[in-house]
Amino acid sequence: MKTIVRDPVCGELLAWEKAATVLSYHGVLHYFCSVSCSKRFRHAPIQFTLSSQVLSGVP
Ligand SMILES: [Zn+2]
Repeated sequence: MKTIVRDPVCGELLAWEKAATVLSYHGVLHYFCSVSCSKRFRHAPIQFTLSSQVLSGVP
């Protein structure tokens, strides 16, 4: 089963295995479609963490 995640920065939906970058923040993994998105996240993580969520593949 594919787990679809949302890039917290740009809001794009992607399969987690297709993510360009994965960052762990406060024990939660965040997936990004590109390196530039992860850079923006690292710059101001609090701004983006609220919108990050796993949309499917939750047990
Ligand atoms: Zn993105």
